[in-house]
Amino acid sequence: MLPVTRRSILGAAAGGAVLSMVPTAGPAAAAETGVSAYAFPLGQVRLTAGRLMDNQTRTLNYLRFVDVNRLLYVFRANHGQSTGGAAANGGWDAPSFPFRSHVQGHFLTAWAQAWAVLGDTVCRDKATYMVAELAKCQASNGYLSGFPESDITAVHNRTLSNGNVPYYCIHKTLAGLLDVWRLIGSTQARDVVLRLAAWVDTRTAALSASQMQAMLQTEFGGMNAVLTDLYQQTGDARWLTVARRFDHAAVFDPLAAGTDSLNGLHANTQVPKWIGAAREYKATGTTRYRDIARNAWNLTVGAHTYAIGGNSQAEHFRPPNAIAGYLTNDTCEHCNTVNMLRLTNELWVTEPDRAAYFDYYEQALLNHVLGAQNRNDDHGHVTYFTPLRPGGRRGVGPAWGGGTWSTDYGTFWCCQGTGVEVNTRLAESIYFYNGTTLTVNLFAPSVLNWTQRGITVTQTTTFPAGDTSTLRLTGTMSGSWSIRVRIPSWTSGASITVNGTAVTTSAPGSYTTITRTWAAGDTIVVRLPMRIVLRSANDNPGLQAITYGPTVLAGNYGDTALTSPPSLTVSSVTRTTATANGAAVNLVPFYDAHGVNYNVYWLTTPTYKLVNNATGLVLGVKDMSVANGGLAVTWGDTGTLDQRWTRITDGTAVRFRNVNSGRVLGVQDMSTADNAVVMQWDDNGTADHRWTLVDQGNGVYKIRNVNSGKLLAVLNGGPAWGVQVVQESDNGSADNLWRLTAV
Ligand SMILES: [Zn+2]
Repeated sequence: MLPVTRRSILGAAAGGAVLSMVPTAGPAAAAETGVSAYAFPLGQVRLTAGRLMDNQTRTLNYLRFVDVNRLLYVFRANHGQSTGGAAANGGWDAPSFPFRSHVQGHFLTAWAQAWAVLGDTVCRDKATYMVAELAKCQASNGYLSGFPESDITAVHNRTLSNGNVPYYCIHKTLAGLLDVWRLIGSTQARDVVLRLAAWVDTRTAALSASQMQAMLQTEFGGMNAVLTDLYQQTGDARWLTVARRFDHAAVFDPLAAGTDSLNGLHANTQVPKWIGAAREYKATGTTRYRDIARNAWNLTVGAHTYAIGGNSQAEHFRPPNAIAGYLTNDTCEHCNTVNMLRLTNELWVTEPDRAAYFDYYEQALLNHVLGAQNRNDDHGHVTYFTPLRPGGRRGVGPAWGGGTWSTDYGTFWCCQGTGVEVNTRLAESIYFYNGTTLTVNLFAPSVLNWTQRGITVTQTTTFPAGDTSTLRLTGTMSGSWSIRVRIPSWTSGASITVNGTAVTTSAPGSYTTITRTWAAGDTIVVRLPMRIVLRSANDNPGLQAITYGPTVLAGNYGDTALTSPPSLTVSSVTRTTATANGAAVNLVPFYDAHGVNYNVYWLTTPTYKLVNNATGLVLGVKDMSVANGGLAVTWGDTGTLDQRWTRITDGTAVRFRNVNSGRVLGVQDMSTADNAVVMQWDDNGTADHRWTLVDQGNGVYKIRNVNSGKLLAVLNGGPAWGVQVVQESDNGSADNLWRLTAV
């Protein structure tokens, strides 16, 4: 498999000798509105040796290896064709799995990209063979999938109950076929995709608007996106009409208003719709679509994203800013971030002065996507979730269809599909252009062949291991033109030189534009100093991730299990080591934390256990609730996060903030009565959230509520686990006394 890699390096070094083999389907037929920067065609940017290229190589190995006839099995079986003795797949492509035939479209896209990027003829031939066989499968009415068309009727009638998400699969097939048409130039792929799209038109035209909206409650991928792409590709407004039928009002309406209604929604069901909104904005100029897409991005990145750039817990969005209570084994589904990268691309080209888009892109690409592929696997298999629980380890799949790393033929989940896609287009967002202006958005070893201008840009860097990148221009050029370089928000003291002479650099989080009469041999050196910065969970300033430049650093815990976030000695942190829980731990870039237990979020402020002096039990929250009204109870000292509290000084009083939920200790309904229930609530400043510590000596305190004057106590002084914590009068009983123990 390795000669492929060497050949691709040689291809790049030869200045695009392989490129000339790559045909293209030509520019899109319909112009885009609101766009003021453009990506280069995939074949014009090549990765050179580095961490990104390593990922690309592993995925390419798998793409060249995988048996097309096995992938065709469910299509052939469904459409009455011989399966030719091929073995059936397992996992999500098993003949009995409800949404079998979703993954093949991802493979078509990935093979087409491998051809476009690398000139890989094995991948090209697999794609065109699959298209030819799919053409044989396609029914006379254009229908094409691995399950009976009766599932479509059932999803239309709202009677589908087998777990299928049929339009999700149809979207993937459409997108894969379109990419084979666009990137390989296959007219057969064009014919199959247009017939399948026509079938979508016919079937959905028969539904009323309200029937359509009801149907959209079932996950449908990015049907609006791919049909808009088809409009852009053909110029035929029919496809735009069909695309807009898939505008999901229940999701779009709040987003258009800028309202965060994401809590509880299945996350990856939504992101492709937002990409569709961005595509529809560019196709129609309707700013509502733009607002939907931008608001979705702002809300997701601002209030639903973990330090590694991923979102979702158990595949769902949680309340805005809820991070601390959701550090679990099933955080950060891979697909979501791949789709967020695409959304980021779509939006940045409409606002190319907003560097925040690519600050996010860099964060998510390096820390989540890059590391989601198994660097120890020659086929580049992926993890579905990236665990962020303390002591998490990559290689966690969904319970439905294999719970570990993806495998060659036994998993075929969504994230495996987006994995082969994204790892064959890792160079797509390094460079952009507008007229003669070039933008450098990412720092990655690569070669841009700006063939339209006869200019080659060679970027040499070890980023993000190193902080410096060198861009060298060759080719023929004349006149004055501009190069824009992103100055990331995480740096300070950035410097840029051109041929050794410093140029004025803009502030972090903006673009530095260098305009001059460039000449062959000109060399730009960009230095982006990196430093250790701790980044807090949105809802808990005392729970923080360690970053160095754009890279999240993880604690390498080997095979040691962790049950709660280690307490970090902040002053001890260097790029490679830290002290946590009093012991030294090695820090590694999170993307390289493979095959070990790791830790990402650390406790950085002193936390306390509140130990009842009568019972010896500790104050926690019932059922580890993270909700408002979660009840305060005493419990055995099991070390769970709900038993840890930070002390926030508030004048002469303190507030106790629960480490697990981020909520503070207060009294139900601000009661002033004896035995009123103590519970957690939003830190909204009411007087019952304030407590005065009355020192009794030897680390023992009475904890007096500022609003009621009563003391924190245990109901009837009970010694059992789970007894309600209440307030009561200062009656001298031992359960009115607490020890604050730093942990
Ligand atoms: Zn997925």
